Amino acid sequence: MFAIKRKLKLNNFESSLMAQHAGFSRFVYNYGLDIFWQSIDVQATDSKRIKEIKKCFTNITKNRPEYSWTLNLSSKVYQSAFQHLQQAFSRWRKGISFAPTFKSKKDGQSFTVYDGNGDILIPAGKKIKLPTLGTFRLHEKLKESYISQTFTISKLADGWYVSFCVDALRIPPIMHEIIEPVGIDLGVKTFATISDGTTIVSPKPYKDAKTKLGRFQYHNRNKQFGNRTEGIPTSNNAQKYFHSLARRHQKIANKRIDFLHKSTTKICQKYAHVRIEDLNVRGMIANSKLSTAVSDLGFYEFRRQLQYKAPTFGTKLDIVDRWYPSSKQCRMCFQKNPHLKLSERVFICTNPECRHTEDRDLHASLNLAQVPEQHISSRVGTIRN
Ligand SMILES: [Zn+2]
Repeated sequence: MFAIKRKLKLNNFESSLMAQHAGFSRFVYNYGLDIFWQSIDVQATDSKRIKEIKKCFTNITKNRPEYSWTLNLSSKVYQSAFQHLQQAFSRWRKGISFAPTFKSKKDGQSFTVYDGNGDILIPAGKKIKLPTLGTFRLHEKLKESYISQTFTISKLADGWYVSFCVDALRIPPIMHEIIEPVGIDLGVKTFATISDGTTIVSPKPYKDAKTKLGRFQYHNRNKQFGNRTEGIPTSNNAQKYFHSLARRHQKIANKRIDFLHKSTTKICQKYAHVRIEDLNVRGMIANSKLSTAVSDLGFYEFRRQLQYKAPTFGTKLDIVDRWYPSSKQCRMCFQKNPHLKLSERVFICTNPECRHTEDRDLHASLNLAQVPEQHISSRVGTIRN
């Protein structure tokens, strides 16, 4: 299973329809939660209690004149809201999360709809039909047809998005261009160096955008931001500024995610067998000099995407343990060069009989490609599921 997420292209009427449904979903969730804590029948299981509350909502509350606004909205939304409440309770009972709390508009707007008859076909193209809601346009087209049942619609800073899960088995098998194992070295200068000589350069949108963001924040420093404890309200202009700021942050995040998705998909399509280092991302982030670069680049997200995409493309992914000296050991004579500094861009072997010289990143990726078995800490993607 993997998820597909697309931005919806909505007009004002459609946007307010989405907002109404998100509000409906939140209302039902809070309604259920409120009655749950009030109900006396503590002997019953959570699911039984929620079932009773749902019955009460369907048969009595929903028909009251003050709730007539719910009649025009999709019934699947409130069914899903009760399901989410049920899941929240079971996560709490298992100790995975805190007890469910009331949702507010600030927690983010989202809701779920599904097709009551089971899986439906989502044809390729620039439109999507959402069960009980209608057909909507997409910003970016779906390249293939998919099959799914449940759709979650959520609002981010720059608009509404739809996401749905797809069964990976339905994707046709892929013929890889390169069968031999390749190593991928991740770096701050060149985002990824692959042992066949391919390099992936990151667009670094964050760095340029960050300067602009700083300037934007500075220019708006005198707005009345508001302070709840002191009773100072937020001015209209400050509110506009907050929205604009959130949109700018979202735009940068989208660019980065888009770059990572494109690279990991390309890698999984091209290579049948990939080896990457188990990066000590936490350690790198603790190093303040590297931290901004590392978190901006999204190494962690890159590895996460490779891990979940590899099985769907039939690609084998080996994670090489951290103790394998991929950058410091000469790949020709196996002598270690412990004095190699991070700033040195060329690897030079210290063995006088070898003197092997090579681009540092390429050398590391070639070392990863030929890693001995005992340094492979885990394997992903040998089974297509
Ligand atoms: Zn050497």
